[in-house]
Amino acid sequence: MADIQRTLVLIKPDALQRELVGEVLSRFERKGLKMVAMKMAHLDEATLTEHYGHIKDKPFFPSLVQYMRSTPVVAIVYEGIEIIDEVRKVVGATNPRKADAGTIRADLSMNVPSNMVHASDSIDAAATEIKRFFTDDELFMYEKLTDRFHFGEGI
Ligand code: UDP
Ligand code: MG
Repeated sequence: MADIQRTLVLIKPDALQRELVGEVLSRFERKGLKMVAMKMAHLDEATLTEHYGHIKDKPFFPSLVQYMRSTPVVAIVYEGIEIIDEVRKVVGATNPRKADAGTIRADLSMNVPSNMVHASDSIDAAATEIKRFFTDDELFMYEKLTDRFHFGEGI
């Protein structure tokens, strides 16, 4: 069986301001994702420079930081088989105008940086990003009864 992975999701300030946090959580719940951690956090510039290190020299970086600091975010860890790609699929492409209909970004937004959600894009990024937001004792292990439908024999 494929490996169980964990991934970090951030529900971004536009979702909080537009009262769409529940809608985003609901889409992930309907998919069947297993949540193992959740908290609110107000991100500072140092954390954002680390988190978005791969684009810190881009011209849009200052507006991205300003946007990401405008409200707290909701940080979540999901766990499951090949969950990093599954979550990215539900979230959609970075630019909401190019994202497929049915994805969170296409259905609920039309702009960058205000594209609703962050999701880790690789195993290495997920490990680093989860550590950035959560300590080990904030990650919960429990049996989720519906995992049998999503990852098991189906019954
Ligand atoms: N972003 C932006 N303008 C761009 C590209 C990205 O404002 O031209 C913002 C957007 O909020 C995006 C974030 O920077 O989600 C991180 O960019 P990345 O390329 O890592 O995309 P993601 O992994 O979020 O899809
Ligand atoms: Mg990214």
